[in-house]
Amino acid sequence: MLIRYEKFLEEFDKTLDNYFNGHKQYICCKKGCSFCCEIGEYPFSRLEAEYLMKGFLELSPETQKKIKQNIKYLVENKKYTNYKCPFLIERECSLYKYRGLVCRTHGLAYLDNGIVKLPECVNRGLNYSSVYDSENKELIIENPIKENLRTDSIFQSSPAKNYKLECGEIRSLIKWFLQTE
Ligand code: SF4
Ligand code: SF4
Repeated sequence: MLIRYEKFLEEFDKTLDNYFNGHKQYICCKKGCSFCCEIGEYPFSRLEAEYLMKGFLELSPETQKKIKQNIKYLVENKKYTNYKCPFLIERECSLYKYRGLVCRTHGLAYLDNGIVKLPECVNRGLNYSSVYDSENKELIIENPIKENLRTDSIFQSSPAKNYKLECGEIRSLIKWFLQTE
């Protein structure tokens, strides 16, 4: 299943590249900008969590130790909502290749059942802030992304079906680590 998922990701990343390119005038993402990994819920399916852990095993013992400490801190303090992702180390994703779908799509505005979903950083003057009317909560662009980029919708899409992916349950990332405590 992980091999099929990797093949799917290759295709999906190309689709996302096109979306990011199409909206590049509204996008401010750059190395070192990590607000989107500093507060959130990070919904991950079982499949994505397994893939992330595959990457974790390839990390250096030092980085693994830092991540384990971050997870321990979140679990001990019951920080299950609005938390900093434990895989963010020195403002960079330690598992970039293995990151989840929510991480890959983050930063894009898209339509979710007719409602525009915007990245949180629009309120920090970052992505889409130049084309967002905050008073009327309206995005003023001519080419909104019509594909629903929510994790559950992506797994129901034709490309995911073509790869026969079974994503399993979707949980907030930290909740995948509660059973091990
Ligand atoms: S989505 Fe927003 S917070 Fe995240 S890297 Fe891009 S600009 Fe920065
Ligand atoms: S896995 Fe990486 S990209 Fe995803 S939220 Fe965590 S640090 Fe950010």
